[in-house]
Amino acid sequence: MKYSPIRNFINGQFTPSSSDRTLDVISPVDGTQLSTVPMSTSDDLDAAVKAAKAAFSSWSRTPIKERVQVFFRYKTLLEKHLDELAALCSEENGKTLGESIAEIEKCIELTEFATSLPQLVTGEVLEVSKGVECRTEHVPLGVVASIVPFNFPAMVPNWTIPNAIALGNCMILKPSEKVPLCSGRLAELLKEAGLPDGVFNVVHGDVEIVEAICDHPKIEAVSFVGSTKIARIVYQRATQHFKRCLALGGAKNHLMVLPDAIPGMTAQNVAASMSGCAGQRCMAASAMVAVGDVDPIIEKICEEARKIVPGKNLGAVINKESKDRIERYITEAEAQGAKVLVDGRNVKVEGFEKGTYVGPTVIDWVKPDMAVATEEIFGPVISIMRTKTVDEALAIENANPYGNAASVFTQNGGAARYIMERASAGMIGVNVGVPVPREPFSFGGWNESKFGVGDITGKSSIEFWTKLKKSTTKWSAEAGVNWMS
Ligand code: NAD
Repeated sequence: MKYSPIRNFINGQFTPSSSDRTLDVISPVDGTQLSTVPMSTSDDLDAAVKAAKAAFSSWSRTPIKERVQVFFRYKTLLEKHLDELAALCSEENGKTLGESIAEIEKCIELTEFATSLPQLVTGEVLEVSKGVECRTEHVPLGVVASIVPFNFPAMVPNWTIPNAIALGNCMILKPSEKVPLCSGRLAELLKEAGLPDGVFNVVHGDVEIVEAICDHPKIEAVSFVGSTKIARIVYQRATQHFKRCLALGGAKNHLMVLPDAIPGMTAQNVAASMSGCAGQRCMAASAMVAVGDVDPIIEKICEEARKIVPGKNLGAVINKESKDRIERYITEAEAQGAKVLVDGRNVKVEGFEKGTYVGPTVIDWVKPDMAVATEEIFGPVISIMRTKTVDEALAIENANPYGNAASVFTQNGGAARYIMERASAGMIGVNVGVPVPREPFSFGGWNESKFGVGDITGKSSIEFWTKLKKSTTKWSAEAGVNWMS
């Protein structure tokens, strides 16, 4: 085992769980055991909530301009430890080092946004009648929880940590049990940056701890990022306990390719979108709708896909279960009559035989009712459907229950606009394969890709992590009395 057993991080200290139930942490790169992770109990959660609650009274009263100083220092520490964090991220998640470096760079950008929050939460003031002023303030909620998935061990935690904490909340992070290592390093860096003990806590675990978070009477808000199946459960359970909840789910993102799209650029974008992070991105292109004759572009997509080599510029998928599931999807589509143009099944990476790799896969002539067309595959696979018109393509996109992202590739502004207006997704791209809005714009899908109001990052997150206090004041007797007095 490369690292010592993982512990929770409570009140500024690494703390053993009260449970002796653990899971092995296995690297998808080569199958080696990295560590063990505790499946914490509700007693562990209670200890973390107590620490967070105790820290809240002082942290929430610290002026925001002082609070963000921690995040200026945290940003510098992320920059200083970029290589080390990226290596850890690749080791536990399986993505390539370049992808992990980009992930840590994104953590830096997210933190940079949090440092700008004092400029964004200034509130409003207005003389509403003679001598009477109304003003608004964004007030932190209290103890909040963030439950995160395996595919971005550092970035998704940082979607919530800097904003929620800079806005004055104290947080419990529940990392994915598949990738629990990065969060420990983030906790150490936050402490080094000067974050007071108890403001940020990490409690590891699985179902039991997620349920305990949803049920805990002292947790005010829960953010969740993961699959739609669990997002739905968490949203229902947390709101049943009258908590604020924002639960982001899975995705099936459609790229609509029109015949006038620039072939080279389109092919590169499609191939990169479907294979980046081994297809394990909620923004990955998973379905492509070829409108009219785009055969030359499909040929180029296959050429690009063949340049993507597992173990070199393509990382591993998270585990064997995932690899088997992805390969089953491909086999089933082939059996139903689809044509596998580039086949990523049964790949072996020399020297990494125990790694869980799937090669890039392009499946053509997929029918809209096949599982590869409708379900999230979460692997480096693109399913190509053919239509004659843009409206048919939109009908396929609109019929899918998810709604994270959709993109159109074309040189025709009118056609692009038509699709932008009609696609049923929260994040739209034009000639962009992964249309992630960068800060200060917010991230969030529609339909079954998100339950709850608002988005998880950027300006929209301010509304989620705070409540609005409205104060009305009158200091002058001359103000008189009116119906509002
Ligand atoms: P997951 O839903 O299996 O797990 C997410 C979290 O929920 C983890 O912390 C896990 O421990 C916990 N969990 C798992 N099963 C649970 C259960 N039965 N009850 C309560 N909690 C449970 O997701 P994952 O496999 O870790 O991540 C991949 C999924 O996340 C994909 O569907 C992907 O699209 C989605 N995702 C979405 C976004 C987005 O922004 N919409 C971003 C990243 C990932």
